[in-house]
Amino acid sequence: MQESFLDRFENWAETGMASGLPAPLPTKEEGLALLSDAPLDRILELAEKPRQFYFKNLVRAHILNNIKNGNCPEDCGYCAQRRTAEGVPQYTLKPAEEILEEARAAKKNGAFRYCLVTAGRGPSRRQIESFSSVIRQIKSELGLEVCLSAGILTDPESAKILQEAGLDRYNHNLNTSEEHYGDICQSHTYGDRVGTLENLHGHGVHLCSGVIAGMGESDPDLVQVALELRRLEVVSIPVNFFLPVPGHAIENPRTFTEEQCLRILALFRLVNPSSEVRIAAGREHYLKTRQSDALRIANSLFISGYLNVKGSNASETAQMIEDAGFVMELSEGEAHGSMVASDSGASEDLTLKDLSDLRPFASK
Ligand code: SF4
Repeated sequence: MQESFLDRFENWAETGMASGLPAPLPTKEEGLALLSDAPLDRILELAEKPRQFYFKNLVRAHILNNIKNGNCPEDCGYCAQRRTAEGVPQYTLKPAEEILEEARAAKKNGAFRYCLVTAGRGPSRRQIESFSSVIRQIKSELGLEVCLSAGILTDPESAKILQEAGLDRYNHNLNTSEEHYGDICQSHTYGDRVGTLENLHGHGVHLCSGVIAGMGESDPDLVQVALELRRLEVVSIPVNFFLPVPGHAIENPRTFTEEQCLRILALFRLVNPSSEVRIAAGREHYLKTRQSDALRIANSLFISGYLNVKGSNASETAQMIEDAGFVMELSEGEAHGSMVASDSGASEDLTLKDLSDLRPFASK
């Protein structure tokens, strides 16, 4: 009888993982089984093996800073900042001192990595220069890892400038499969996204790229994204569960049970065993009491909410991590003893952030 993917994976985890052999890949059908009828207990048990091997029992907390919000010309259907959406605070690029002030607060709140996010199609050369200067300052003063999410970036020179500034990662989510991409966005293509990732990767910047599950896709679309992220050698994979934000334009949003969310997270972990898998948007809303099981698969999460949506605050998240038996990671391999309580954010998922959340240090 042919060995199943889970058997091949178990065999690899026992004999090949420690010696750096490539992990097995599921066929499309085997990937689909992970999302449907393969036994969840076994999936969790196997997903936990690489999670513990590569990341021990540590959890990396990421804090997002929208350094430029709203007024975007693009039409990504899932996004509260898309060109026709209303009600989201708008501002141009924050001044460097404000970004630094927020980075200091993020460090105090236990952030392992600081994610700078801008609305817009992609950065101009002038913006690339500004980002580079702020990245240098954050890294030299605070030693935080920095990830930049600034849209489409296919110009090789810009990639080189960011790499030389010390950028650790560039985020650009695939979001969904190539086949489904035209249903969620018409203002740019899946190919633009892949081109951006290949450009940054080619200049030595590590890639962060993930998925938003729940945007009317089919299970084969999710399997396709997991396999494509493996092909692109993505080291960091945010797994978002779509939150129907006001103004969204997704036609057939899906909702998920806790178990389905665990299966989706496990699909991305088992196909990309050494990558940092992050429980991103929708964590509180969909996983509810099974967030601790999700940490058996994923080794990273966001604290203090998502781009324009509030999430549980830093101290609640720290408590959940501790109760689940995991430890916050401050820098590569270094555990965090305690977290500074934060009063930012609320526990209701679908509350949009207001200006005081998005620009807490802006001069009044
Ligand atoms: S995801 Fe980014 S590019 Fe797309 S509409 Fe939102 S801010 Fe604009």
